[in-house]
Amino acid sequence: MSTDPTTLALDWRRELHRIPGTEFDVGQTADFLAQVCTDLGWEVTNGIGGTGLVATLRRGTSTRSIGLRADMDGLPIEEATGADHRSQNPGVMHACGHDGHMAMVLGAAAALTEVDEFDGTVHLLFQPAEEPGTGAEAMLADGLLERFPVDAVYGLHNIPGLPAGEIHVRSGAIMAAEDNFEIRITGRGGHASAPHLVIDPMVIGAEAVLALQSIVARDIDPLDSVVVSCTELVTDGARNAIPDEVVIRGDVRSFSEDNSALVETRMREITEGIGIAHRATCAVTYTREFRPTINDGTCVDHVIAAATSAIGGDKVNGACQAITASEDFAAYARAVPACFAFLGAGEIAEGHTAPLHSRRFDFNDSILGAGIDFYVELVRSRLTKGRTA
Ligand SMILES: [Zn+2]
Ligand SMILES: [Zn+2]
Repeated sequence: MSTDPTTLALDWRRELHRIPGTEFDVGQTADFLAQVCTDLGWEVTNGIGGTGLVATLRRGTSTRSIGLRADMDGLPIEEATGADHRSQNPGVMHACGHDGHMAMVLGAAAALTEVDEFDGTVHLLFQPAEEPGTGAEAMLADGLLERFPVDAVYGLHNIPGLPAGEIHVRSGAIMAAEDNFEIRITGRGGHASAPHLVIDPMVIGAEAVLALQSIVARDIDPLDSVVVSCTELVTDGARNAIPDEVVIRGDVRSFSEDNSALVETRMREITEGIGIAHRATCAVTYTREFRPTINDGTCVDHVIAAATSAIGGDKVNGACQAITASEDFAAYARAVPACFAFLGAGEIAEGHTAPLHSRRFDFNDSILGAGIDFYVELVRSRLTKGRTA
């Protein structure tokens, strides 16, 4: 059997792909990770924040410490890749590439086992429930950083559409906040043929859906990025009956706490006003699912330096655009200096990969080596023997 870390990681990636779970229900995955890390000689602590686990390697006497985070969960999607290593768990698959993220961290673990020129502690942070946005908070609430103190946390996400094997990063906000909302419009239903006898929440709801678009068009600074999407419109009516109630649900993305607050305020004002205009009531429930992921400038510099040395400066973009998807890595970045970076998974048009969250998505194994080399170089450079700062 080969001991080349990238070859090992390829096998681990495909095995992890076969045994996906969702949210905190990732016991098979946790068992697999614990076994591999134990076999590599890392010290494993499991059951953190539910099914999360930490694997630790200590070298020398330095108190310096670094955290490498990989997300563990798949999605409740029936796989349609037809791959030999396709999911063995019906209705569940790794459609976001978290299998690849774990395999890259395991590959780095295998490589670091052979490297003795660093002085300090490496914690691999394997985290469940990234997709619902609750896993990082659960591990932090379970004392993650008190039990496994780290100077900084780093993570990668594969991104279809970026050139394969390139690392893209930026200082400041790199991924959006996600807020969810529900607007309950209560009118008075009745016969579809007698609109003068009812208060029709359908017409009011349609007006609200359009009016909410004015928040981005007319309230947000045009140099900022915000998305307001109404995604569901549900009634309790029938084909020939005007409903009593309409519920509109949707999703908001932004890159600052201020814009998130502004959207909520304007949404309440606009829908309340429309309700009054039509003698209906509009009740808004507004929740914050993900905070924006804000990269620490110094950690970004370390990522750029390590990536440049590991994969070459022509494959590194240190000032990339942010994206409007969200990540619960944000929770670590609120607690300690942190940096989240993107690893290109190749152009979709080249057939390497489908979009994230597609039934046809499969992690592009050709980028495993770049991710492993980057992580190893990052650890080596941050925990260099004899360095004091
Ligand atoms: Zn995802
Ligand atoms: Zn993901």
